Amino acid sequence: MIISVASGKGGTGKTLVTTNLAASVGEVELLDCDVEEPNSYLFFPDRDGETSFDCKVMIPKIDQDKCTRCGRCSEFCAYNALAVFPQDLLLFKELCHGCGGCAMVCPEGAISEGTRPIGKIFRARSGEVALLWGELSVGEPMATPLIRSVKAEARGDLVLIDSPPGTACPVIEAVRGSDFCLLVTEPTPFGLYDLSIAVQVVREMEIPCGVVVNRSGIGDRGVYDYCDREKIPILLEIPMERKIAELYSRGLLFSREMTEWQERFAGLLVRIEEVIG
Ligand code: SF4
Ligand code: SF4
Repeated sequence: MIISVASGKGGTGKTLVTTNLAASVGEVELLDCDVEEPNSYLFFPDRDGETSFDCKVMIPKIDQDKCTRCGRCSEFCAYNALAVFPQDLLLFKELCHGCGGCAMVCPEGAISEGTRPIGKIFRARSGEVALLWGELSVGEPMATPLIRSVKAEARGDLVLIDSPPGTACPVIEAVRGSDFCLLVTEPTPFGLYDLSIAVQVVREMEIPCGVVVNRSGIGDRGVYDYCDREKIPILLEIPMERKIAELYSRGLLFSREMTEWQERFAGLLVRIEEVIG
């Protein structure tokens, strides 16, 4: 079973929910797909056996001697990653999406397959939690190939995905293929606005969803009324409590310090299983 945890915006408590859920449900694989700033693993300081490897994407390798500057590859490339000059064919690596189409249309066989690293993938283990996370190289503009590669490494029977914030391509890549998407929000007008967009996205992807309300007790009833209207189950509420915020800010799992929460997070998994059916 693959459960992704997403939110319409950053700072709503997505990582708080994912890490505490992972720490409360026994054997699980936790994927941090927020590859621009992965931090789930930091909540498991006792992790060991850490290994890493480069994540590489395909880029065209151009043989300038064979190239006749006919321009077919550049016309084909939808991302404007190739530019033909009288003496040269230039590749803008950061724009290339690695589709391989330019090599297919080249009549001279001047383009072959090369690779370049865009980041790293890490593995480690902390007790029953297998950790897997991606780290995008600084300045690298495309997160989605790395997210795809992190997901391809998942092996567990129960996989939790900490998604990037927002509702753009990286989130869609992270959430794609999930059996369930847990949407974390806060009960404020901002939270409601972002939640409603995230709901539209997961519904478009035909992924069942439920809501965790973080910092409950603040704000207004808008999120609750919306979920009621849209028939979206609210599966857990985490109150606005100073102790929870303090533990989180110190990089500690509050469910390990406030042990009654282990049962609540384990119950959250049971409720998700009930919703999926
Ligand atoms: S299609 Fe091939 S021959 Fe034509 S410009 Fe591109 S690399 Fe050169
Ligand atoms: S591999 Fe695809 S995206 Fe990259 S340069 Fe070739 S056609 Fe453009």
